[in-house]
Amino acid sequence: MPTKSKKTKAAGRFGARYGRSVRTKLASVETKQRIKQKCPYCGKLGVKRLSKGIWECSKCKKKFASDIYYLE
Ligand SMILES: [Zn+2]
Repeated sequence: MPTKSKKTKAAGRFGARYGRSVRTKLASVETKQRIKQKCPYCGKLGVKRLSKGIWECSKCKKKFASDIYYLE
């Protein structure tokens, strides 16, 4: 059962494994990749990450390949 810890957020699913600083770094990347990103085509905030480097805009329905974790 994955439980969220207060300090490491989503990385709390790893329990005590991999070290605290690694988990904190991972949590900061993961929270950034899960929020809606800005679309390079229509400029609206609505791009969701589908998989590694694959993004889809919910506004203009464009699917494209770009950066792995989050868009600039
Ligand atoms: Zn768009």
